[in-house]
Amino acid sequence: MKIPMDKPVLVTSALPYVNGECHIGHLRTYVPADIYVRMLRKMGHDVIFISGSDTHGTPIVLSAEAEGIAPEAVVARFHDHFKRIFKALNVDFDYYGQTNSECNHKRTGEIVKKLIDSGYVYMEETKQAFCDTCGRFLPDRYVEGECPYCGASARGDECDQGCGKHLEPGEIIAPKCKICGNEAVFKEQEHFFFHLSRFADFLASYLDNLGGTRNARNYAREWVKKELRDWCITRKLDWGVKFPGRDDLVVYVWVDAPIGYISFTEELMSGDERKWREYWKEDGATIVHFIGTDIIYHHCIFWPAMLKGAGYSLPDAVVASGMVKIDGRTFSKSRGDVVWTSEFLERFHPDTLRYYLVAQSSHTKELNFSWDSFFLRVNNELVGILGNLVHRVVSFAYKNFGVVPEGEIEEEVITKITETREEAINAVEEYEFKKLVDAVMKLADFGNGYFQREEPWHLIKKGDKERERGGEIIKNVLQMLKAVCILLEAVMPEKMVEVWSQLGMESDLQSVKLDELTVPIASGQKLKKPKKLFERVEE
Ligand SMILES: [Zn+2]
Ligand SMILES: [Zn+2]
Repeated sequence: MKIPMDKPVLVTSALPYVNGECHIGHLRTYVPADIYVRMLRKMGHDVIFISGSDTHGTPIVLSAEAEGIAPEAVVARFHDHFKRIFKALNVDFDYYGQTNSECNHKRTGEIVKKLIDSGYVYMEETKQAFCDTCGRFLPDRYVEGECPYCGASARGDECDQGCGKHLEPGEIIAPKCKICGNEAVFKEQEHFFFHLSRFADFLASYLDNLGGTRNARNYAREWVKKELRDWCITRKLDWGVKFPGRDDLVVYVWVDAPIGYISFTEELMSGDERKWREYWKEDGATIVHFIGTDIIYHHCIFWPAMLKGAGYSLPDAVVASGMVKIDGRTFSKSRGDVVWTSEFLERFHPDTLRYYLVAQSSHTKELNFSWDSFFLRVNNELVGILGNLVHRVVSFAYKNFGVVPEGEIEEEVITKITETREEAINAVEEYEFKKLVDAVMKLADFGNGYFQREEPWHLIKKGDKERERGGEIIKNVLQMLKAVCILLEAVMPEKMVEVWSQLGMESDLQSVKLDELTVPIASGQKLKKPKKLFERVEE
């Protein structure tokens, strides 16, 4: 989707659920979202980038109960953990909040109240799983059983192993209590429902015009076509945002979690009413959500219906990344099929992981992580092509000239850089970050071929005229390295800053725009003694 230049852009990344440590499966959403934001800024857009910890819901309560601590303590531990990971990986949010903030309680209360006042919420006696042994109701993750749609084993609120469908309370077949393992029964309880079925026509046309990736639109369309059932939006729990007027009920976590996107915008703008309203009440911004394919239902069905019902701006695009597998298997902590981000970062540079995550597969496709594929990408592409080119060219230039030599940038080089710029912009607009890195690596490859073809090492040993020509060739290759830095900064921010500084550039690379790509690198600019960019990696 082409983003209009005349409006600010709000990019959000799905909220990590803070009930455990970050594994590399999580990063498939955050890293590409960060790359997207950095690229939009390079293209001249005014962007804010927000996310935060998803802190409510039953899994956190279950963990807290198991440890004998308060849910707040679980949240605090993993909220800090995620913040540290994002900093280490240079995922650079303008604001990272948490959904148990006072602001989010207030905003959620206001939105739910608005939905009630507009007649979109009704009360009904409904069946809820109940455990006789434990003597308690079993909301969401307290219960497990079988999916009524596809038969896979499922959690109380989601068919996580099968069709991915959100499950309403009472829908699960053969429910079992997660605490004691005994069979659960269904008992009547009073709950509140959102009239989702009334939004079917609205959603059908909304989804037709929604930007983002096709996988998100198509998945949501299927469910809208089949049947939209009203949505139970309350739970009998203490931990959460209280349902207006009811002390015994909180709203379902999928109500207050996406509202976090609004609250975090408010918090970022420190309550400046006029400013955040421009984003969320007056269609004054382009809103882009980055999510994983496992939460399309929530972002393309519940969320726009809620926003529409409460009179808020609607998201313009939903970008859904494919899931990550480990050696062909789904993540599983118990089987050991998991790669923890913090352990990864103890051994490897964060930029190598950022690069791998986008270079390995198309954004909407599944990413099958294996150590072999990681080593191959780093050793062949980052060390073999990029690192090698930078080192060879900058060393040669540093040794023989010490500065950027005099000369014109050739038409051939300008054309190549301009083509790469177009490919990069198209890739960003298609959310195909693999195409972005492939295009830039192709430019690096071209630079390598050019250097090889022109043989400046022979020229500089001959007369003055030839030496001058040798300098001009070097200047042209340095120009291509400058372009590579600008275009890959979004993917490998730390490493590209290293190259930038070797080239003697003094500006802040992160704020350099794409318009700089073809601005000739200044002759006479002092080069720095080059250091190796990447180290080979192995088991
Ligand atoms: Zn299912
Ligand atoms: Zn039980």
